[in-house]
Amino acid sequence: MLKDPPCAQCDACCCRKHGSKEFAVVLAPDEEELFREVAVTASVYSHDHRDRVIPFDADGNCVLLRDRLCSVHDRKPRLCRRFSCVNLYITRGPQHQDLLDECPELLALLEKGSWHQS
Ligand code: SF4
Ligand code: SF4
Repeated sequence: MLKDPPCAQCDACCCRKHGSKEFAVVLAPDEEELFREVAVTASVYSHDHRDRVIPFDADGNCVLLRDRLCSVHDRKPRLCRRFSCVNLYITRGPQHQDLLDECPELLALLEKGSWHQS
């Protein structure tokens, strides 16, 4: 079992543009209505499939990020709730690897921790 990520000490790295990511998060079909006012269309999983996604603003921040905090924390998209940089750090899987490469402060935080619960 892994501990929770150190979000209170982080600068919202995962909510900001990194690597070739063109949007902040993909919505599940049942979340599209909830985020209707900010979502845009993109082809994420295949060229002929249209998904609804939360975009980045001109500064590369998720449009729902305010002062480095998620403005919809209590109802944020499922993928955001599931994401943990700790899991990424432990497994070093290819997905989102650029997050660790491009956020040295986050990597330094993770390097300091002992992430397996005792
Ligand atoms: S990168 Fe990790 S520590 Fe930072 S906000 Fe995202 S989940 Fe939390
Ligand atoms: S919806 Fe919230 S948690 Fe998800 S990327 Fe945007 S600001 Fe971050």
